[in-house]
Amino acid sequence: MSDVGRLHDLGVRAVILSYVDTAGINRIKTVPLSRLDDAVRWGVGMSPVFDTFLADDSITSTGLLGGPDGDLRLRPDLDRLVALAAQPGWAWAPADRFTQEGEPWIADQRGFARRMTELAAAGDVTFRMAIEIEWAVGRDDDDFLPACRGPAYGMTRLVELSDYCRDVLVALEDQGIAVDQFHPEYAAGQFEVSVAPAGPVRAADESVLVRQTIRAVSQRHGLRVSFAPAVVAGTVGNGGHVHLSAWRNGRNLFDGFPDSEGGPAAAGILAHLPALLAVGAPTPASYLRLVPSHWAGAFACWGVETREAALRFVPGTAGRPGAANLEVKCFDLAANPYLLLGALVAAALDGLAAGKSLPEPITGDPANLPGVPRLPTSLDAATDAFAGTPMLREAMGDALFGAVVAVRRAEADRLRDQDPAGVVAALRWVY
Ligand code: GLU
Ligand code: MG
Repeated sequence: MSDVGRLHDLGVRAVILSYVDTAGINRIKTVPLSRLDDAVRWGVGMSPVFDTFLADDSITSTGLLGGPDGDLRLRPDLDRLVALAAQPGWAWAPADRFTQEGEPWIADQRGFARRMTELAAAGDVTFRMAIEIEWAVGRDDDDFLPACRGPAYGMTRLVELSDYCRDVLVALEDQGIAVDQFHPEYAAGQFEVSVAPAGPVRAADESVLVRQTIRAVSQRHGLRVSFAPAVVAGTVGNGGHVHLSAWRNGRNLFDGFPDSEGGPAAAGILAHLPALLAVGAPTPASYLRLVPSHWAGAFACWGVETREAALRFVPGTAGRPGAANLEVKCFDLAANPYLLLGALVAAALDGLAAGKSLPEPITGDPANLPGVPRLPTSLDAATDAFAGTPMLREAMGDALFGAVVAVRRAEADRLRDQDPAGVVAALRWVY
């Protein structure tokens, strides 16, 4: 049966074409179901100006992007077309952006993740990735009033929001998302879900879909949800930890880590972490989360199962095949997941190509160890590191690279005069 016929039988009346802009905001167009085939063939118009949109909908520009001219075509990817469980009558598909001549758009973020996946494949390397999703559930109010009071990891919290938590799991499962686990997290009103790993593009799609599903279920329960890096100033925030493994000929390069090929791949990521932060920790609020002793990974180091290192090597349960992976903890969910996963692939490939080696691992909290470098402590510093990284410029192309620099500089500028509470309040309900 055609996609349209299948969706029609499921009661779907309209399809959302989803993409994520440089600032990390999920923007959309929609078409009635009857126009889906047309949208696949011809695309749906959307201005390229969104490449330089900021999270508050103001607009910056670069020499190449951000003007009022031109149009692009959004084309839904039917491989990931999903009837939405918590938005009856709606289906969702991630979209790729093309020029009116049918060429892939130079600054397309999803296209970048795909290009990096293909580059890895050309060297016989396949990445498997997943982004952990943490969020805080509040009562409907501009301030954050946690919707539950139970303790971190506590059964009480689940009992308080039992129907809500079940509905989140059911909606994800009904959408074909393979949930690994779900639990109450550390901070007030905070929960976490993790899903099975997939290729970079699919993993980024999943990160968008899972968050919007959680949002829709929350809404139906009269709850407000924040995926922002910092929800309340001075407390533990929401992370977007990335788990990744890399495979060659069916072999996990992270088996035997760090003496396997996983070593240089991780070393590439570690060396580029300051620059990668401009992609994966893209707001001033990100640096309120990324502080020592908050499990956010604020130090440029690695360790085995060390939750304060930016890179945590996870060996997996002894004997469990394929379980070894690297967790990159310093990133958050304000990030555009396509840009982030693509950039991580680029950094890992750079480490492999250069045969980079890792420093010694750390154990314990690096805050108490002498000489372990902190990651950048501001969006300005991360953006400086990014702007000075030719490897990422080459991987992204000038247009996309320039858009990231311009958007980050503008995001830093617009909140420069705010104190931490003001930064948190400005962004709390944006992500
Ligand atoms: N919420 C913490 C963060 O900001 C992470 C907690 C954990 O280790 O899962 O990244
Ligand atoms: Mg967590």
